[in-house]
Amino acid sequence: GFNCGIVGLPNVGKSTLFNALTQTAAAEAANYPFCTIEPNTGRVSVPDSRLDELAVLAKSATIIPTQLEFVDIAGLVRGASQGEGLGNKFLGTIREVDAIAHVLRCFEDTEITHVDGDVDPVRDAATVETELMLADLDSLEKRMAALVKKSRGGDIDAKADLALMEKLFAHLSDGKPVRSTDGLTDAETLRLPYLQLLTSKPVLYVCNVAEGDAATGNDYTKLVAEKAASEGAAHVVVSAAIESEIAQLEDDDKAEFLSELGLSETGLSRLIRAGYGLLDLLTFFTVGPKEARAWTVAAGASAPQAAGVIHTDFQRGFIRAETISFADYIACQGESGAKDAGKLRVEGSDYKVVDGDVFHFRFNV
Ligand code: GDP
Repeated sequence: GFNCGIVGLPNVGKSTLFNALTQTAAAEAANYPFCTIEPNTGRVSVPDSRLDELAVLAKSATIIPTQLEFVDIAGLVRGASQGEGLGNKFLGTIREVDAIAHVLRCFEDTEITHVDGDVDPVRDAATVETELMLADLDSLEKRMAALVKKSRGGDIDAKADLALMEKLFAHLSDGKPVRSTDGLTDAETLRLPYLQLLTSKPVLYVCNVAEGDAATGNDYTKLVAEKAASEGAAHVVVSAAIESEIAQLEDDDKAEFLSELGLSETGLSRLIRAGYGLLDLLTFFTVGPKEARAWTVAAGASAPQAAGVIHTDFQRGFIRAETISFADYIACQGESGAKDAGKLRVEGSDYKVVDGDVFHFRFNV
């Protein structure tokens, strides 16, 4: 599966948000057999209105959304890269996530201590980012020292890695995160994720606001929005306090509560979709009377790889994929309509999955 780590300074609302996410997931767990919830890891359903539309047309008995994992990463404080707080443990966990949801405190509350005295989300973002950049510099420095020898000894891969790391090191030394490095070759861009640098991961800023600001945002969230835009990053405005209240409501009460607040959907739904959107992923569907289900593959995946997400046997014995695009499925009012209209395509093993594909896989067992 794919996952998103929740980071931020202490007392910004990470745990409140994480608990709301997992509470919602726990409430839904009966429907989702594979939902395991570990102490700091929660799997949540990714809302996708396309799945509901497909299920209506196919009269599916069950709807199973695709899932995204959130990891609550506590312990980041100023000096974490030097081993302060949970230091290394924190950095190790963040190394393993695919993307980062960076929670910023955008609410005033004199009862809740801010580690740096006052509310200033842009400063806080820089504090966290600085720790991550220092950790990356440290890790690059160690690895570059080892590569120099290999590279002198004629190791071509070591030489290429060293050249890439030198570029990244220079960029980080300018106080910029790895994700904003430009001028990399295609080979370097492909290699980059394998270096597992903290600041190479895509980031989503999560502005945690007071209840009254959930629908509108506030002056703090405007500043974060500007910062995010300047970096080409995404941001969402949520109120962790409201989300934890909503998570405890029944569906009917939820809808009413949301409309009272002037919201059309929960902040968690927006957060989950934004987190999913950070990752370079494609959603495909399998639809029938038994169930309508959404699945996830990395961008660029082939039809057999998509089949393999459902079952490894499907990939091993892959013969062909029968495909209807989501748009055709809807326009033709379902599978038989799409077939009649000639919109069902038969694709081979070199077919690249397109977001929204509705698949039937044919395979040998
Ligand atoms: P973490 O350290 O980042 O995990 O922060 P917590 O989730 O533990 O929250 C720290 C404190 O801030 C707790 O007392 C929360 O109840 C409170 N808090 C979290 N979100 C909000 C919010 O949106 N508004 C207000 N007023 N308090 C909040």
